[in-house]
Amino acid sequence: MKKHLISVAIVAALVGCSEPAKQETSVPAVKASQESPTASAVDILNQEFAQFSGEFIEQFWQYNPGYAVYVGYYKYDDQLPVPDAKNLAAELSFAKAQLAALLAFDVKKLTASNASDYYILKNQLQSLLFNVEEFKSHQWNPANYNVAGVFGVILNTDYKSKDERLRTIFKRMGNIPAYYQAAKANITNPTIPHTELAIQQNKGALGLFKDSLHTAMTESGLSEAEKTDFTSRLAEASAAINGYISWLETKAEALKANGNAKDFRIGSDLYEKKFALDIYSSLTAEQLFEKAQKDKSRVHGEMVKIADKLWPKYFAEQAMPADKLVAVKQLIDHISVKHVERDKFVDSIRAQIPELEKFVIDNNLLTMDADKPLVVRETPEYQRGFAGASINAPGPYDAKANTYYNVTPLDHYNSEEAESYLREYNHWLLQILNIHEAVPGHYTQLVHSNKSKSLVKSIFGNGAMVEGWAVYTERMMLEQGYGDFEPELWLMYYKWNLRVIMNSIIDYSIQVNGLTEEQALDMMMNQAFQEKAEASGKWRRATLSQVQLTSYFTGYSEIYELREELKAKQGEAFNLTDFHNQFLSYGSAPVPIIRQMMLAE
Ligand code: ZN
Ligand code: ZN
Repeated sequence: MKKHLISVAIVAALVGCSEPAKQETSVPAVKASQESPTASAVDILNQEFAQFSGEFIEQFWQYNPGYAVYVGYYKYDDQLPVPDAKNLAAELSFAKAQLAALLAFDVKKLTASNASDYYILKNQLQSLLFNVEEFKSHQWNPANYNVAGVFGVILNTDYKSKDERLRTIFKRMGNIPAYYQAAKANITNPTIPHTELAIQQNKGALGLFKDSLHTAMTESGLSEAEKTDFTSRLAEASAAINGYISWLETKAEALKANGNAKDFRIGSDLYEKKFALDIYSSLTAEQLFEKAQKDKSRVHGEMVKIADKLWPKYFAEQAMPADKLVAVKQLIDHISVKHVERDKFVDSIRAQIPELEKFVIDNNLLTMDADKPLVVRETPEYQRGFAGASINAPGPYDAKANTYYNVTPLDHYNSEEAESYLREYNHWLLQILNIHEAVPGHYTQLVHSNKSKSLVKSIFGNGAMVEGWAVYTERMMLEQGYGDFEPELWLMYYKWNLRVIMNSIIDYSIQVNGLTEEQALDMMMNQAFQEKAEASGKWRRATLSQVQLTSYFTGYSEIYELREELKAKQGEAFNLTDFHNQFLSYGSAPVPIIRQMMLAE
């Protein structure tokens, strides 16, 4: 009987694991309120939460010094953690302890901003545990291991003198041999595509050590003795990377020969779990997949309506094909010849940004911040991987720095490649791209997000919210009359939107339903009007990543639905500007969390 009582007490302590910590937090609360009589217990709790999240982030950087460098936090820039079993265990117990401490806070008593931080941190910690304990990509994805990126950032970012950065790099290189040793010990059952990716990426990494870093060291002000040490460390680093590459090459050959490599498809169970953690949707992955299928049919219907209208304008002499999707495809191909000239590509993007800003301001769609202009520039050489355009925003630790719209000029293309690229980013699609990347898409969202002053949201921003917003603004701008309801612009918009929908469909179909390459290419080319090169690239991406391709459609459809829901609820009182400003005021929090907060107000 007595024994039974004890076990009840233990169970109670475990179930209500928030209790002890709650009591802990109430002790300083009393003390502090004596010091400042105006502060309420709720204020104190919020201060404590802010302190907890600040301390969590600082420790998080100690475990992830490379990630810290990416966001502009350089305190641990000379450290390269070795991903061995000991480090993995330490990270795991760190995450478990932090999660327990987090859950001790009574989220109902936190302010809206802190409450959303609470859910984001909880999600981050649960993701970390899931990755290590269940997903285990450290055992099957050799591309997890590549040291080059962070060294490249340190070399190319001007946060201290170049000589000092080289000394940092020298220290950081010390662990490279141990790093790759641990990588080889971790990899027990690699997939073939991830092995091939790792070989390719690590070959790329060699260039950094053999060329860029070697040249930078030669031209530096380091002493002769330092240069000698640097040279031998470079040689050790290259040898370690080379060793990893040849180890992987042997592995890849063996896997192909014996035919029992691990499938890159993660299957339904892991997919649902990863979707829930990474995307943070109100739906399951399966429900989202079904929703995307329905939306594909809706968009096809809209495209056919436009094709019926536009066909006589472009093909007066020719009968419309019976298969309406074939007609749509023909029409898209036909009008895509309207595009800028290759040497005007960057300039035409630069000219378009003020026009988009003017439309947003004239139509009172949301608040624009004139203090943070967007700088359009040619992508710096070291960042040029693929052609295209992307936003390069300052990290949360350097919010005063410029936001750049990097556009890669088409210099390295032959005329055939340039023509194909320009037809893809034709007169109409280029405008939609600029809405998505810049105004009022990614750039505008980031400006608003930086105002929320939550380090948690800047660092652990939700990808589905960020991408969803950019995709949402494309439709919103056109619905508000940008481009004067020109049917050609809408047709191109639908083609672009179909890509987002198709991303969701093929990701789920490949990872869960076993869709083959041939089937996937057929779907992308015939149902989403993609070129073969684009579809092949997407197939490859869908074999290497899981879930991420669904982020665009999930976020977009949830934002759109939230807007419609509030419109219906508020009726006449609904105001689009207010909706946008309020939506963006929560930072890059997951859409379901923003929804909860907006509906509560
Ligand atoms: Zn042309
Ligand atoms: Zn985007």
